[in-house]
Amino acid sequence: MDVIASVVNGAYIDPDNDGKVTLSVPTRSVVIADSLLGMEAEIVAALDLEPPFAVVSDPDTHAVMGERIELAISSLGQVIKVLLGKNPHADMQTVEAVMTETRNAGTLIAVGSGTINDLCKFAAARQGKDCVVFATAPSMNGYTSVNAAITEHGHKKSLPALAPCGVFMDLEVLAAAPKRMIQSGLGDSICRATAQVDWLLSHLLFDSEYREAPFQLLAEDEKILLAEPEALVSGDLDAMGRLARTLVLSGMGMSVCGGSYPASQGEHLISHYIDMMHPTDWEEAFHGEQIAVTTCVMARLQQQVLLGPPPRVSSTKATKQSILSHFSNETGVAAGTNLTRNV
Ligand SMILES: [Zn+2]
Repeated sequence: MDVIASVVNGAYIDPDNDGKVTLSVPTRSVVIADSLLGMEAEIVAALDLEPPFAVVSDPDTHAVMGERIELAISSLGQVIKVLLGKNPHADMQTVEAVMTETRNAGTLIAVGSGTINDLCKFAAARQGKDCVVFATAPSMNGYTSVNAAITEHGHKKSLPALAPCGVFMDLEVLAAAPKRMIQSGLGDSICRATAQVDWLLSHLLFDSEYREAPFQLLAEDEKILLAEPEALVSGDLDAMGRLARTLVLSGMGMSVCGGSYPASQGEHLISHYIDMMHPTDWEEAFHGEQIAVTTCVMARLQQQVLLGPPPRVSSTKATKQSILSHFSNETGVAAGTNLTRNV
């Protein structure tokens, strides 16, 4: 059976538990097809979700797919159209706005990629509602994860949310996404290698939990995906299918582990630092674009550790005061709080 279908159906044997149990994820349906045109209502109906349906999009994703979804879903029940502003941010203010607009909905239907998916799965979790997502870009691996990246008081946090119960990917739509968003999805996927090494190192040094399952899920598609990455930006739907599957499986790997450990380690910390501290004259980059670069930095650091003497663990020399003076704003308070918690 296909890996994704096997996980969704609860048939995938967990390699970390002596083959005695199967993996379990909250997502009940994943449909990846060359085109979903004409199937939209059917695949949502199969999940037997509560109407009315709030279809959440922004002007860009509405033009790409939102309008088509609103029309198709109207055959299933009342549709509440929620059109966010251009380039919305996944912050608390926008979460509140989404919750207000969707207060009468039974189910949230996100039409978008990272930001809209995060907003909907977080708002749905706070409202105790279900959500599904129609992806418009293959730009990140959070479609099936149980956390949402939400900015609160200027500090980006990974907060508990709800994995969409349905994830629907139209490969023709994904292949037509802006080239930088496609590259970003590949960037957010290649950190598998550095994240695995960091996580394993943490396990070996601190005896923290480590699992093979998330990496086993990705292994088959990764080889083919990385053999010919250029195909992703030439409209090749087979290649796009590999990336879509990788993003879905990466998110499921995080769900299985109850956290982002298999897909976010040192390279993501460097990227989060850039998010907090980047000079105002820097152009804004997509998450996965930064990860593509910080993965190379992390790989180089790991290489140095491997070539050097065995690592020795010592406590950090940073103090709460040094962190506060470095960040010098409310971001510093949040970072300093995290530091004292982690030390
Ligand atoms: Zn990431």
